[in-house]
Amino acid sequence: MVAQNLLQIKSELPAHVQLVVVSKTKSNVQILEAYATGHRDFGENYVQELVDKAALLPKDIRWHFIGHLQSNKVKYIAPFVHLIHGVDSFKLLKEINKQAAKLNKIIPCLLQIHIAEEETKFGFNETELMSMLNCEEFKALENIRIIGLMGMATFSNVEEKIVNEFKIVQILFQNLQLNSEMKDFNTLSIGMSSDYKIAIRYSSTLVRIGSAIFGSR
Ligand SMILES: *Cc1c(COP(=O)(O)O)cnc(C)c1O
Repeated sequence: MVAQNLLQIKSELPAHVQLVVVSKTKSNVQILEAYATGHRDFGENYVQELVDKAALLPKDIRWHFIGHLQSNKVKYIAPFVHLIHGVDSFKLLKEINKQAAKLNKIIPCLLQIHIAEEETKFGFNETELMSMLNCEEFKALENIRIIGLMGMATFSNVEEKIVNEFKIVQILFQNLQLNSEMKDFNTLSIGMSSDYKIAIRYSSTLVRIGSAIFGSR
């Protein structure tokens, strides 16, 4: 079923939309089932779980960290993480830069924008985002590369609500693409199992899908 669901969803995605298979709580056996289809991008949202899985699973998997990342845990994933989606504070970004510098590498990151109603979801608001992007200390960070934005809509059945939230991050994304000095700013990570089809209408370039592939948790 896993392979079948994955291939079905992939075949329906527009060519410019990347798929990250969200494998949190799933076993290595289930992940390997997805891997066997040729898929290589997987997303996890707990550091320990990610570190354990990465140690055992094939080395050509591109691991996306999609959860809320605590600064003191950056060091555990910095050596191998492919993209950090949920950067939600300047403090965290500075720590990622520091750990990447130690490894003499550049870590690609997405800035998470708070669009949902739920206070439990993380992210910058527009004012915080702009003030960080405009400060000299941010511009001096040499070991991170901001390649786009990430957002999570409110968990809701009301499509209009989800649409309004995706529009906020879409407009911000498009403005930054035109007006900021960030190079390679081309990734908009919005859309999960329940709302990825809507997200694609609002410029998503990367969807993060778990339960529609593995079955509900
Ligand atoms: C769990 C999770 C997903 C995937 O959710 P599904 O509803 O299972 O597709 C996507 N993004 C984040 C940040 C998640 O934590």
